[in-house]
Amino acid sequence: MLESAKLEILKGENMMPLSPQRRVQVTSLILIIIISIIIVGYAIESSTIIPSSGSIYYQPEFQILFNDGFETGNLNAWNGTKTTTGDQITTATTNPYEGSYHAVCQTNAVTSGTKYAYSYVSLATPVSEIYARAYFYIFDGLPLDDNDDRFGLIAFEVNSQLQCTFRVHRSGGVDKFNIIGFNGTAIVQKSTSAVYPEEGKWYCIEFYIKVHSIKGEYRAWINGVEQITITNVDTTRYGNGVNCIRFGLTSTINVQHAVTIYYDAVVVSTRYIGPLEAQVLFTDGFESGGFYEWSGVKTTSGDKATVTATNPYHGTFSAQYQTSAINSGTKYAYSYVTLTKVVTEIYARAYVYIADGLPLDDNDDRFGLIAFEVNGQLQCTFRVYRSGGVDRFNLIGFNGTNIVQKSTDAIYPEIGKWYCIEFYIKVHSIKGEYRAWINGVEQISITNVDTTRYGWGVTRVRVGLTSTINVQHAVTVYCDVAAISTQYIGEFYEFAVIGTPEENPAISNFYWLFGNQSIRYKALKPSDVKGSVDVDLFEGLVVWTKNGGYNAGAVKKFAQKHVVISHIWDFCNILYPNLNSGIQIVTTNTVTYVRDWGNFRTGDLVDVRNETGKTDKLMTVIAPALTVFVNTSVIAQYDSNRIAFFHMNGTKPKSGFYVMDLDATTPETEWTGIWHVFPAVKMVSDFPTGRYARWMANGVSWWNLDWIYSRANALVNENDDILDMSVIGKSVLGRDIIAVTIGKGSRNIIIDGCIHGNEKATAFAALRLIELLVEFYRSDSWWHSKLNNDWRVFVIPVLNPDGFASNTRENANGKDLNRQFPPGTTTTEPEAWALRWLMGNYTPTVYINMHEGYYWYPNWLIYGNYESGSNKTITVNALKTANETFVSLRHWGWFDEQGKHVWIGKVSTIAQGGVNSMAVAYASYQYGASCMLVESIVWSSSYKARQCLWAMDYYCTLVLSFLQNNNRL
Ligand SMILES: [Zn+2]
Repeated sequence: MLESAKLEILKGENMMPLSPQRRVQVTSLILIIIISIIIVGYAIESSTIIPSSGSIYYQPEFQILFNDGFETGNLNAWNGTKTTTGDQITTATTNPYEGSYHAVCQTNAVTSGTKYAYSYVSLATPVSEIYARAYFYIFDGLPLDDNDDRFGLIAFEVNSQLQCTFRVHRSGGVDKFNIIGFNGTAIVQKSTSAVYPEEGKWYCIEFYIKVHSIKGEYRAWINGVEQITITNVDTTRYGNGVNCIRFGLTSTINVQHAVTIYYDAVVVSTRYIGPLEAQVLFTDGFESGGFYEWSGVKTTSGDKATVTATNPYHGTFSAQYQTSAINSGTKYAYSYVTLTKVVTEIYARAYVYIADGLPLDDNDDRFGLIAFEVNGQLQCTFRVYRSGGVDRFNLIGFNGTNIVQKSTDAIYPEIGKWYCIEFYIKVHSIKGEYRAWINGVEQISITNVDTTRYGWGVTRVRVGLTSTINVQHAVTVYCDVAAISTQYIGEFYEFAVIGTPEENPAISNFYWLFGNQSIRYKALKPSDVKGSVDVDLFEGLVVWTKNGGYNAGAVKKFAQKHVVISHIWDFCNILYPNLNSGIQIVTTNTVTYVRDWGNFRTGDLVDVRNETGKTDKLMTVIAPALTVFVNTSVIAQYDSNRIAFFHMNGTKPKSGFYVMDLDATTPETEWTGIWHVFPAVKMVSDFPTGRYARWMANGVSWWNLDWIYSRANALVNENDDILDMSVIGKSVLGRDIIAVTIGKGSRNIIIDGCIHGNEKATAFAALRLIELLVEFYRSDSWWHSKLNNDWRVFVIPVLNPDGFASNTRENANGKDLNRQFPPGTTTTEPEAWALRWLMGNYTPTVYINMHEGYYWYPNWLIYGNYESGSNKTITVNALKTANETFVSLRHWGWFDEQGKHVWIGKVSTIAQGGVNSMAVAYASYQYGASCMLVESIVWSSSYKARQCLWAMDYYCTLVLSFLQNNNRL
């Protein structure tokens, strides 16, 4: 640390935040950097929205008292059943609304009197307001014969006496949905004319009672719409609360023939339940490295389905499916998902890449990519199909026993491209549908067909090469990020950001962050999140609102398996409103920013800012209030008395809540805020720098020198056409000092990290630099040419491996290796000699020596004492341009420290205060190299992800810019 003799915080008149125009200014250099980084520019608007505070009423937690879908195959979940003689209640698989089972009950004919066959739920504690929902299907029994014939479907008991019933009731010669109950000792009842009961249909019925002596209520919803309401009645005839709920045929009265009904998906709750939510049924991106999430794989002889790292759309793995040539007949290689519940409408999405197999040879040759089975039989397929001499996307299925098929001319299948394919079926005897979306646009539709040839619901979904027919050559396709849902899925995104910049400008910072890290995100309005199906397709969520408006239950459920980055306001007020009781709110106008991580304690203050970056309030946390969250494992805080960072563990790795204060519109708060987000983001997406940061965030494993070396090895092995590795010397304790080389030119560039063993971020920056140089070499003609013809770059990740291993600045002899060079001193240590020998054999045109700096002070870039004349100008100008590039990339261009605006990346041409024994001095003095010493603000006594990420981003940008702008090269 601290190579500069003097440190000062730079002050100046030009310390202005970047204008929006400046932010998106693209220089030629940025065009190079942009290869790996997407820049999202946006304007920052001033805003004075005041966050809600004080007393806000939140509804109590959604409390489910009972639910059963009969998937156990019996009625054991219930407290009991009751039937009159000769009648019955059981479970069946005939026609479930969801899953495999439903309940069936039957009452026989009764000319006069009451029969019943129902199951019931008893409540330990009577409840004064209660909702009961189930799906009902009337198989037999309509029409009723006479007015006033009826049968009940849901009934509430108050104090063990029947208080009210939702029923089918005949009046005026018409069968109607009706409710009946007591108002005191009088009877009240009401029917609806909006929807009528029919045989052979599933209805979502929800019945409600409020037990109250004056304001009692009965309400009924049919298919999610409130249809019958009786209010302001006395519903306390038998007591003050419901203690039993009946479902089934609760009372069949005067019906002169048998009645048979099915019911399914029963829920009893203290809040409105509504129809069954759409559901994500399956997701897999093959990141387990196999087909472990799938029900199975099927292939014909000689064909294969494998998971491979060759060609992922996202993450590390994708699935590869191959069928070999077949002149006539069918081959296949696919993976499949057997559904745990049979569904009538289903969407299956996969990204598909055709690596080999096109063009097809003859008309009618084809291969399927996604297929639905109904009742175990193939019902329909999305496929590539040749007709009229053209390969087309096509879908085929049954309409009754006839075949229907259709192609699109809007987009054609091609080799070597990822397509987002989504295929849909609605199973219905008249209004059946097949639909297909390609890259998010609906391209093929077949509607109003009979899709029930094999049954009423989809039981299995196939993905891969579901059927390759008559293709006289091999076919290879890749699939990735497969998903199955009962709701439209659309294209793949890693993150969803819930909230709007209009309501909360901090949202823009997330967009910027994700964009900058090439992370696909989808912006959602709070009202878009109605249930789990709206969030379960993502890998992570950002929840950042001022008024809630999203389904908190879905977000909490999501957090059990995924990461949620939450604003503290949402966390305390919407997601966990109970926390309010543990938080004391006081006013302050202090603004500070993050410093370090630690344990969260009672009495710690949580700083809540408003959107303009001003502190809005402090919350004093009383830790016991947090113990209500059983999964709380780590609650960290930044700074001893300011901003807090919670981590509420979910039940899976990479899950839980990250709760942060990031109301940021100023670059200062943005800068601090961004760092809060990094660890959470990198958990979900292994973006380039995150690969290294993970080691730090996870603990001490990143200290491991073996890991650094094995990562360098892996890079060289993966890119052995352009990378070489050599051992340039040994440390005092005999450890190898390695250098990775890229480039075939004659002008040498030497870059080293960890000359000081405890400045570890530089080792990771060195690895990242190697990665970027490879990437640029492969993807950019300018860099390709420079590395191919002009330059040879030596990157030494760890010059002081003994110091790295012992976490000391010095080497094993206790010597500071950066005080080992002429002319200021003589070289005694083997590590310093290794560098000297390398320079002696490969005269450096440019030499870059990386350090960590101290605390939050601005970066200092120092060049050697002995550069002079035009060489000095070249170096300084290259440093300045490099720095400007960094700033224009908006890598936290400036921040605020103790009320002073400070540039990060300030170029400084410091004449060394008598230190002329450093490596830069030697390279400059001995070889006239253009030298840069990078010393940044990453130093900390505890090495954490934040610093290291910053170092990698910052150092890499500066070093690459410096090379590109150095006209000595
Ligand atoms: Zn240092």
